[in-house]
Amino acid sequence: MLSGGPSSTESVNRGPFLTVVGAGVVGLAVAWRCAQRGMRVTVHDPAPGSGASGVAAGMLAPVAEAYFGERELTALLVGSAARWPGFAAELTEASGLDLGYRTEGTLMVGLTGDDVAEARRLWAYQQELGLAITPLRPTELREREPLLAPRVRGGAWAPGDHQVDPRRLVAALRVAAERAGAVLVPEPVEQLSDVAEGPVVVAAGWATADLTGLPVRPVKGQLLRLRTPDGGVPGFRHVVRGYADGQQVYLVPRVDGEVVVGATVEERSDRQVTVDAVLRLLRAAVELVPELAEYELVETAAGLRPGTPDNAPVLGPLPGRPGVLVAAGHHRHGIVLTPLTADLIADLISTGVPDPQLAAFAPDRFTTTRIAEGQPWS
Ligand SMILES: Cc1cc2nc3c(=O)[nH]c(=O)nc-3n(C[C@H](O)[C@H](O)[C@H](O)COP(=O)(O)OP(=O)(O)OC[C@H]3O[C@@H](n4cnc5c(N)ncnc54)[C@H](O)[C@@H]3O)c2cc1C
Repeated sequence: MLSGGPSSTESVNRGPFLTVVGAGVVGLAVAWRCAQRGMRVTVHDPAPGSGASGVAAGMLAPVAEAYFGERELTALLVGSAARWPGFAAELTEASGLDLGYRTEGTLMVGLTGDDVAEARRLWAYQQELGLAITPLRPTELREREPLLAPRVRGGAWAPGDHQVDPRRLVAALRVAAERAGAVLVPEPVEQLSDVAEGPVVVAAGWATADLTGLPVRPVKGQLLRLRTPDGGVPGFRHVVRGYADGQQVYLVPRVDGEVVVGATVEERSDRQVTVDAVLRLLRAAVELVPELAEYELVETAAGLRPGTPDNAPVLGPLPGRPGVLVAAGHHRHGIVLTPLTADLIADLISTGVPDPQLAAFAPDRFTTTRIAEGQPWS
């Protein structure tokens, strides 16, 4: 049996026990927020940060990621993105670590006339929703980012779509959670009945399915990391997302000289990097920003996003399992959704009252057992 809380932290935190399963960004942020509220938190993970969180690009992109038919998810993304400036400042202070948080915004571009036509449908929809997005002519695009290829035919600017370095984020959350009194146990939880005391938050990424029976599946994403030849800051500042001859690609420049190039979206559960994916991503990247051909290719990686049938996260009580909460299924959005997820789950545990924002994302939308309105979650 796993113990509910370590005696070494009892002098620090005398509140109720809480077990978190999974130390990706979601589990660590929940642990941090709950430890700050005085709970005695234990986080179980045999390999913290080794899931999707250790691969992700780190775009905080509620506008560029606003797709047709996902209005409730878009509202959640917008709400969480709005918390990012305060969250980043507080986490930097609490951990003493730099998150690589950048706020220059995102340029969405199309290389050919067909690429621009394809992208314009989505930009029009994003404008219709009232999101902050400004169409730009090719000359205006190159005024903002002179390194864009002369062939780029059109684009749009999303000033509120920012970025963070997810590996730095994992490291900072871990330090902040531990400083607040949480304890990391480098062991898996094989089944929920192994957890002895207190409520449990399952934040095990795509593996949440094994523990809860919820339909969370792995969705493979391959991406690349490049580095400037001289180790200096990349010559472009915005996140660039685009279509190049029908191939979608994004480029995320970091001040430490890294540029992330991503990503595939594949219904697969392996983590192999394929020649085809590397070729397609690099070709599209260099077509949009030719200078990248001179950069060093330092890493190829594949991660497994926790996908759900409606692409939205599962947040809240697990039906039929009193005391068990789920915070998983964040699919393409786990980094941007980290602050809001952690606040909503920590508030639910400490007050017992679900925030109305949780209703659309409740686990019981995927189960035959429902949680009745007003029913306490534990
Ligand atoms: C290529 C790629 C690019 C992405 N880009 C972005 C982006 O730009 N912006 C964005 O917002 N999101 C992005 N994402 C999505 C984002 O990475 C995920 O949504 C997010 O990391 C999910 O975090 P998590 O903590 O839920 O899961 P994970 O990071 O997968 O962590 C789950 C953890 O649970 C642990 N675990 C599993 N089973 C058990 C068990 N039984 N017991 C204990 N521990 C267990 C694992 O070891 C792991 O550490 C991207 C993902 C990929 C793959």
